[in-house]
Amino acid sequence: MNDHLNGLVGREFDILNYIHKNGPITKTDLINKMGLKLTTLNRSMKLLESKKLIVESGISDSTGGRKPAEYDVTSDSIYTIGVDISRTYTQVVLMNLKMQILDRCRFDMESDTTPEKCSVKIADVIERMLSKLQIDKNMILGLGAGTVGPMNREDGILLHPQGFLNSAWNDNVPLKDLLQGKTSIPCQIDNGANTAILAEFLFGIGRGLNCVVYIHCGVGIRTAIIKDGLILRTMNDSEDAFAHITVDFNGALCKCGGKGCLESYVSLEAICRRYNAQTENNITYNELFERAAGNDDVAAEAFNYSAKILGIAISNLTKLMNPDLVILSGPLLSNYDPFYSICIKAFHEQNSLNKHLVFNKEGFFKKDVVAIGAGLMIIEQYFNEKRSVE
Ligand SMILES: [Zn+2]
Repeated sequence: MNDHLNGLVGREFDILNYIHKNGPITKTDLINKMGLKLTTLNRSMKLLESKKLIVESGISDSTGGRKPAEYDVTSDSIYTIGVDISRTYTQVVLMNLKMQILDRCRFDMESDTTPEKCSVKIADVIERMLSKLQIDKNMILGLGAGTVGPMNREDGILLHPQGFLNSAWNDNVPLKDLLQGKTSIPCQIDNGANTAILAEFLFGIGRGLNCVVYIHCGVGIRTAIIKDGLILRTMNDSEDAFAHITVDFNGALCKCGGKGCLESYVSLEAICRRYNAQTENNITYNELFERAAGNDDVAAEAFNYSAKILGIAISNLTKLMNPDLVILSGPLLSNYDPFYSICIKAFHEQNSLNKHLVFNKEGFFKKDVVAIGAGLMIIEQYFNEKRSVE
């Protein structure tokens, strides 16, 4: 158990949680926003300061007179590990309560990277990081892994995930137990799109908004939605629910068993298939990006067609969810520039009602987003368990 957290009660965790999300902040603002009495706040803040969980961080702007002090969480009290386990790479970050990455490590998922080997490698990486930064393991609140669904989140088991190079992943994978066993750190798992949106919603581009949608377009489409502060839970916590909505009921059979799914039009695989069928080629998507950026109109059109369909699908989603922000990310966005603007144009042609929706390319945390969100998930769960019940 982390010594800094011993002996605190619900109210202190509530204040710490509020400062975590809103710091640096003055006592006056804390009193106004949390509805606490000054004496109560002072008592709790004193304890949080003595535990080195919060610190006077600076002087806030004020109009005349003495300027009130501001408080923020400390950078060396609580740490978490965030892990992004995808089909092609794994990234491990060590972060503090201020959401700063203190160290990061990324390794490729090879054909011999079994779940067991991957967990051992993650454990080795963590040991190295802790020893380098001289952080004791009991200062780590937990390990969060953002990974690939479908899954049983509570039990931490991946349910036959598809597309990993090593076939041991295609079975049920007790990832939570594996990671806990190898690292001796308490673990939680969720799908990577959900951890990504948590990071953007609480600390990134989605702060203060009511409804945020995150869409990652690559080999497949991964999507997450937060509304009223809650992650919308899909069947088996899958990240590909939006990917398998039907956009053409005469369309080709999809691996999910449905027909004409969105992912059959908007994914690297789908775009390659379209190009290769039209040109009688057999090229991979890396080559296709180069051709689209060059003078190959058929390649560009294959991407543009895909972007338009995504824009229309987002328009459908928007009518249902009424989001304030849609974050678009992934290789389709980063490797083919026109994709973003063509998608947005198609959205507006189809949706004249939602005027307030804002699009964003790649969010605030960019490629660290899944790992940071996974580490944040641990902090959120901890605060949630400890909060005062009133
Ligand atoms: Zn499908």
